[in-house]
Amino acid sequence: MKGSLTLFKIKDIEVQLHISWIIIFTLISFSMATGYLPMNYPEVQPYIYWLFGAGIALLMLASVLLHELSHSLVSKSLGVEVKTITLFIFGGIAQMDEEPDTPIKELKIAIAGPIMSVFLFIFFSVLAYLVNIISSSELLIGAIRYISTINLVLAVFNMVPAFPMDGGRVLRSIIWKVKDDLTFATKIASSMGDMFGYFLIFLGLYWAFTGDIANGIWFVFIGWFIKNLSESSYQNMLMSDMFNKIHIREFMTKDVVSIERSVSVEKVIKEYFYKYKYNSFPVVEGEEVKGIINVERLKDVDRERRAQTPVGEIALPIEDKYTVDPKCKVKTAMDKIFSNDLGRVLVIEDEKLLGIISRTDILNYIRVYGKLQE
Ligand SMILES: [Zn+2]
Repeated sequence: MKGSLTLFKIKDIEVQLHISWIIIFTLISFSMATGYLPMNYPEVQPYIYWLFGAGIALLMLASVLLHELSHSLVSKSLGVEVKTITLFIFGGIAQMDEEPDTPIKELKIAIAGPIMSVFLFIFFSVLAYLVNIISSSELLIGAIRYISTINLVLAVFNMVPAFPMDGGRVLRSIIWKVKDDLTFATKIASSMGDMFGYFLIFLGLYWAFTGDIANGIWFVFIGWFIKNLSESSYQNMLMSDMFNKIHIREFMTKDVVSIERSVSVEKVIKEYFYKYKYNSFPVVEGEEVKGIINVERLKDVDRERRAQTPVGEIALPIEDKYTVDPKCKVKTAMDKIFSNDLGRVLVIEDEKLLGIISRTDILNYIRVYGKLQE
């Protein structure tokens, strides 16, 4: 995600911190050190308040991190890849590369986060109890209690049945299991998310106008965020659903401009790249696909060698990520297009080139489809 820095890597999952957390961190420390702590635990040195304020903010971040890690590790153990976790504003987002393919998997992944938060709530409650026995520092005990409450709030807030929050995912998995219809389940769960978002916005507005401006604005912001998230997740779902129904054979561009492998690099640049303005071309021998040539590969050939070098010599070898079977659905092609470095896939059957699908094809289709739906 833009505006994030990588903290560390665990089990191939990159944990990132969004810059918004620096603002949040400062806000929390500030409000703790100058408001909550002096008000509840008077007569302590000011720097101690700041120390505890920063400590509470850090433990809140750690709590959010453990919640997200719990989702991600369960997800990985069920075979659903997670590449990054981004910790930002009021929580974290784990980026799943794929959606779980069964309702049970979705349920397990969704519930893992809140279970971790409940566990942390219990852990910090017990810790506060134990510290109470050996120490008389009201401030220390109060701070630990505060963290335990934060974790309870995290668990409860995330369990609100509004997609794509954890509770919404739990709800979706249950409807999905019962009705055996993922689209329907997503629709119900995201309209709950929509409603919950509006509810928070109105609640926030009400508070803002009746005096509690800070909390009011905060709730409006969170509500707006949830509303948008649930709408876009539904759109994404509809899109992958649509592409899951169309066959590659009907979708692909059939007349592919390909290059014989014996053609020289110089000629390829002049007569293909400058002429057609594509970013890459399939390289063939007769009807058989032998590789792919892109600008980066051409660039690597010295100018004086371009006339003698046949393009087949420098073409990228054919790999699974560059090709699809015409019997597959467009969704399969789409996933490869958006993750491989070429932004396109070749449609190949028995080593013969049948067609091509590019990122532009997918995006244009979505645009035309969207316009016709208006
Ligand atoms: Zn969660």
